[in-house]
Amino acid sequence: MVPPGKAPHGCGRLTGLTLLPFALPLPINYDFSPAMATSNFMRCDGCGQAASPEHIARRLQRLEWTTRFRPIHIGALLLGAFPPEIDSEFMYAAPAVFEGEAARVLDALGLRQAGKASDAVLSDFQRRGLLLVHVLECPPAAGAASPVPLQTLLEQQLPAMFTRVRRSLKPRRVVLASGALEPLTGRIAEGDLGCPVVLDNGKPFALEAVDPGPAILRLRTALAEPASIL
Ligand SMILES: [Zn+2]
Repeated sequence: MVPPGKAPHGCGRLTGLTLLPFALPLPINYDFSPAMATSNFMRCDGCGQAASPEHIARRLQRLEWTTRFRPIHIGALLLGAFPPEIDSEFMYAAPAVFEGEAARVLDALGLRQAGKASDAVLSDFQRRGLLLVHVLECPPAAGAASPVPLQTLLEQQLPAMFTRVRRSLKPRRVVLASGALEPLTGRIAEGDLGCPVVLDNGKPFALEAVDPGPAILRLRTALAEPASIL
């Protein structure tokens, strides 16, 4: 005999059990908002900008091009602010004719010669232990498509750049090779890069200046110093 109010042991009747009414909570909405469901928003690791699949593909293409001519031991890492949008100006794209930044850097080092194939020019650059990279791995979005000022993008990307230089590239030294990096000179020079930072009288070598001749001469002198070939 089961006393009133108690359930029997084992299977049996549920006599006396009090079933409390309860309500299932509404399913939790894990931030599955319509905006997130319909957009492909991604932030690019290489530049911090919102990135479309095309943006990511272009970044990977530039990395692939650059890797072809990366020296095993980097004597001097030439650092620019951001890569050019146009492939013929991106040195490692090995265009038939180097233009823009690619032409400036190669001319500064006296490496661009008429009739010499692009791959041969880049192999020469590589043999000298030189590598050109940029703080931003992608060009800043132009005009209204760029909600973040370039200066902010560069500053945001500095820690990632420091890590890339220190852990992956490990150059003998870093040469600031763009006047656009001037506002960041102090932070880069004092950053933990694991190697000296070569400057032009306390500033970057402004190769894109109207008259870059004097800066080019000083850059060649700096690169010819023994530290670059150790
Ligand atoms: Zn990017």
